[in-house]
Amino acid sequence: MTSENHLSRRHFALTGALAAGAALLPSRLVQAAAPYEQAALPYAFDALEPHIDAKTMEIHHGKHHATYIKNLNTALEGKADLAAHSLNDLMAHLGKVEDKALQTTLRNNGGGHWNHAFFWETLAPADKSGKPSDELAKAIDASFGSMDAFKTAFGEAATKRFGSGWAWLIKKDGKVLVTSTPNQDNPLMPGLVPDTDLGTPLLGLDVWEHAYYLHYQNRRVDYIAAWWNVVNWDKVSARFADAK
Ligand code: MN
Repeated sequence: MTSENHLSRRHFALTGALAAGAALLPSRLVQAAAPYEQAALPYAFDALEPHIDAKTMEIHHGKHHATYIKNLNTALEGKADLAAHSLNDLMAHLGKVEDKALQTTLRNNGGGHWNHAFFWETLAPADKSGKPSDELAKAIDASFGSMDAFKTAFGEAATKRFGSGWAWLIKKDGKVLVTSTPNQDNPLMPGLVPDTDLGTPLLGLDVWEHAYYLHYQNRRVDYIAAWWNVVNWDKVSARFADAK
């Protein structure tokens, strides 16, 4: 067997294993390479009511998020080197894409896919919202003084983000901190987002009007206050434990 054959067999075996793993672990699916697929929500459209209404969830997932994925896949057609990246690696690589028009398309739609896949997993029905792990609670206290002070800081970042964007809790150098991004940017895009701290996202809040306008109209502050009821703290805590 030549080394080329050997490599290609190994590649096939690895790809097969990844595909089998992806079927078992929906959260891994979004990390795979292009073409990207949309995972079903891990709960019903109406599971977050009354805090986030079913119609908003249906349109947000079925139209907005789906469109980012479609546009991302279209942009990656015929670009095997970029398409081979996992979605996480694509975020980190965006700053190196030399074609600026392509970079913008990938930034908006790749970011849009990453952010929304992350957002759905960050949510849970109110009766399953849980609470931060002891380790995460300690890190929040160390950075902000208290859970209430953290929620105030996060809420301010979400409220003050002008126009469309996201508020984030990230882990950086072992500590947690709040930051925000415009549009569909996120804290995984080195060199692209000024005034944003980079790090591992733990919690993200979509403050685009499409995320709340049907139910809350212009009342972003009310949407933010209600959203805390449906945060999946088990997931956020697991991300904190997994993050370097
Ligand atoms: Mn959105």
